[in-house]
Amino acid sequence: MLKINNLQASIEDKQILKGINLEVKPGEVHAIMGPNGSGKSTLASVLAGKEDYEVNGGDVEFLGEELLEMSPEERAQKGLFLAFQYPVEIPGVSNTNFLKTAVNEIRKARGEEPFDAVTFLKEMKEKMKIVNIDQSLMGRALNEGFSGGEKKRNEIFHMAMLQPQLAILDETDSGLDIDALKVVANGVNALRDGERSFIVVTHYQRLLDYIVPDFVHVLYKGKIVKSGTKELALELEEKGYDWIIKEVEEKE
Ligand code: ADP
Ligand code: MG
Ligand code: MG
Repeated sequence: MLKINNLQASIEDKQILKGINLEVKPGEVHAIMGPNGSGKSTLASVLAGKEDYEVNGGDVEFLGEELLEMSPEERAQKGLFLAFQYPVEIPGVSNTNFLKTAVNEIRKARGEEPFDAVTFLKEMKEKMKIVNIDQSLMGRALNEGFSGGEKKRNEIFHMAMLQPQLAILDETDSGLDIDALKVVANGVNALRDGERSFIVVTHYQRLLDYIVPDFVHVLYKGKIVKSGTKELALELEEKGYDWIIKEVEEKE
């Protein structure tokens, strides 16, 4: 699915990612954790194709193709979902119309017929249930005046509609309450099917109480310094990151 080889990236001449290696196979859920400032969001942003970052080493294979050479739109069409790559607000374009265009573009790229209005509505109804999203958010302009929780719900709703091969979610630590965390978890769990993969970047150990990952990686100073299974997340909850940092420093 995804193979990251020795990925290095910098921003404003500051080296942030210093050789990331990670392989994600179909159906796997990987959690990326780590202390603040370790490069988690940078990694997610580089995979999303955000332009502020300069890649200065390594490569990323996505479904057998070189991801870093694709535009963000091509990445999406190939089946990558990146929550925060999302437009903040689009005045004048309803949530429904935005989504319909996005879904049909992806279907077209896959060589599938676009959804007609009836099928699209049926799909919407089905997926709205997964995130328990209010109908009233559908006719409103995308994200305009949405609360934090509504934005999060809507983002996960879009993920469910777009049916990605690989979804990368960067859950930053700004103002998500437990209900919003559960929405994210329910959305991810409902879409887990043994084929679709997820990378969940999280500052919250708590999220992993709801999304049980297959693998957990700790990022520190731009490198993955430890990998394990879900038990590693529990260990981190109990002991924090200091013991890992100490291990790393003793090796240096
Ligand atoms: P995390 O998500 O793990 O908290 P980030 O990827 O956001 O870490 O940040 C990693 C490092 O990159 C930090 O030292 C941060 O200050 C730096 N950084 C991130 N974005 C920028 C930016 N736009 N300009 C300068 N430095 C940045
Ligand atoms: Mg941070
Ligand atoms: Mg971050």
